Amino acid sequence: MTFGTFFLPGPTEVRQEILAAMMRPMISHRGREFEEIFVRIQERMKRVFFTARPVFISTSSGTGMMEAAIRCAPPGRILSLVNGAFSDRFANIAVACGREVDRYDVAWGEVHSTAELTARLGAGEYSAITVGHSETSTGALNDVRSISDAAHRHGVYCLIDGVSSVGGAELRFDDWGLDYVLTGSQKAFALPPGLAFAVASEKYIELARGSASRGVYFDLIEYEQLMRKNQTPNTPAISLYFALNAQLDDMLDEGVEARWARHGAMQEEVLAWAARHELRIVASERGRSPTVTAIELPDGTESGVFHQRLADRGVTVGTGYGKLKMKTFRIGHMGDHSVGTIRRCLRACDAALGF
Ligand SMILES: *Cc1c(COP(=O)(O)O)cnc(C)c1O
Repeated sequence: MTFGTFFLPGPTEVRQEILAAMMRPMISHRGREFEEIFVRIQERMKRVFFTARPVFISTSSGTGMMEAAIRCAPPGRILSLVNGAFSDRFANIAVACGREVDRYDVAWGEVHSTAELTARLGAGEYSAITVGHSETSTGALNDVRSISDAAHRHGVYCLIDGVSSVGGAELRFDDWGLDYVLTGSQKAFALPPGLAFAVASEKYIELARGSASRGVYFDLIEYEQLMRKNQTPNTPAISLYFALNAQLDDMLDEGVEARWARHGAMQEEVLAWAARHELRIVASERGRSPTVTAIELPDGTESGVFHQRLADRGVTVGTGYGKLKMKTFRIGHMGDHSVGTIRRCLRACDAALGF
């Protein structure tokens, strides 16, 4: 199979070499060999997040580390910034974990205003906010650095969903003074689904120690403690660690900043194509993600027919998400894709749309 046919915005296409890296016998997750892999993974994961903090790795999808963010967050009211399906999920997780939650909603496709956020933070007593960096349902990109700064001016923690951003869009955990960022293996990391990654600041972890709602599986204090032995609290998905170990070599050979630039170039390719055909982009010009673009289908084009025509050409893109399912489609230009594979995708779209 040649690489460059699968453009879902998660899971993204995984290279054959990475899949092959998983074809190894099991090892003990309490043994020496695992420990060595764990240490090497830590070193390199820190470079991806631009942090000196440990990177927690859970065997779960990204949603698990969203739940961890809430369970371990300092007690108090939460303000959830919502602009699409995944940021809505973050708000719902907070409610489901028994938090009192206020929402700062903007239209799907929009990004949040730091001025408006500041006003809302001034009007309420919050301990934390939740925010999506790259909102995968619409392709909107929030300025999480400014949003985090605004939260900090009110003494509020900022919990960032970076599932479709980390590794594809600029994010510097330490330089930007962030509190908590999570991501998943199956988006810009171009790994199979099944692992989630999170970094938490020292202050956030200190406060988490006093929290009564940490639960068991997503108790980051457990992760922090086992980390000192280069282990995880429960049995990790060892095969996926083999894949991650291999993928990190390639990611750092390319360079994380070069990786961000490649994602920017893929995004430009898609936006220029949409502009040429006068297709409407769902995300506002104020913030568009370098990893995913949601595009309105032209009038009269039925979603099912479009995707079938692409399938006939061996190409898969994402349908719209949630309430945008039938009216839009989404191109995942992330992970190990390149301007070359994106062009192939766009040529198939041309044919499927009759351009
Ligand atoms: C994919 C995604 C999630 C959910 O991740 P799962 O791995 O499916 O649990 C959350 N947030 C964003 C922004 C996503 O793109």
